[in-house]
Amino acid sequence: MLGEVSTLTTEAAQSPRCPLCAGSSICVKQIRSLNIHRCSSCGHFFHPVDRPLEHVKSVYSDKYFSDSSEGYQDYLQEEPNQRRSAKFYCGLIAKHSSSSGAVLDIGAASGFFLDEFQKIGWQGQGVEPNQRMRDVALDRFKLQMVDALEQVPEASRFQLVTMIQVISHLMDPVASLQQVHQVLDRDGLLLVETWDRDSWIAKLSGNSWHEWNPPSVLHWFSRSSLRSVLESVGFEEVCCGIPRKRIQIGRAVAMLRHSWKDSLAMRCVTTPLRIVPAGLSLPYLLGDAFWLLLRKK
Ligand SMILES: [Zn+2]
Repeated sequence: MLGEVSTLTTEAAQSPRCPLCAGSSICVKQIRSLNIHRCSSCGHFFHPVDRPLEHVKSVYSDKYFSDSSEGYQDYLQEEPNQRRSAKFYCGLIAKHSSSSGAVLDIGAASGFFLDEFQKIGWQGQGVEPNQRMRDVALDRFKLQMVDALEQVPEASRFQLVTMIQVISHLMDPVASLQQVHQVLDRDGLLLVETWDRDSWIAKLSGNSWHEWNPPSVLHWFSRSSLRSVLESVGFEEVCCGIPRKRIQIGRAVAMLRHSWKDSLAMRCVTTPLRIVPAGLSLPYLLGDAFWLLLRKK
């Protein structure tokens, strides 16, 4: 549990600076031999990365989207779930925005999310490091795609930026949020969805929580820690909630296998699921994710 993590004192436990506040840090966990640090000043949990460019290339390969316990079993097969989630957010945004405009989706993958926004009149642009996913977004939905946030011109203007399950994967969340603030119109909206390290399931699961998953995941936020960062960058909260997510059986089994390995608990839960089609999806009820809608101050 988070409050009970012991401080590791191995030689590998160095003290990189916190990416949020530049405070010193201590190594408090090792997951598959990868260090997770906690900032001594602000309490942020993070996994330090030495080589950012190599990191992005190696993590977000085609395998991440098609055959990965750290990513997706088959992202393209998740289209119905991705669209269902996007439709919920389309409705949410419609309540808080008087008109549609330009939307930038960071971590856009193959563009299902943006395509739903395009259907209701938004003009979509996506940021996605994986070439294959960008190609799908371009070929199927004619979306304008770039491979990194830095490739979005500073002079661009958006009325909405979305970051669904992406902020915990960013190398430098503060710098990215500052750039988002820069390209958002006055009173523009920012939608962020991520995981909650303070949720009951995260605390109950200890090191087996599915999101203790470096090197894909680099940051672990709580609601309050993310709110602090967003406010410091210049956003004010409009509303918040828990995502209405669904998860495919195959992905749920992969996540459990990733966390629980070949344990008795793993076999007890997953053995009955073998008779269920892997493509079937179920409501995700664990409540360990949250979304925040914010407005640029
Ligand atoms: Zn810090």
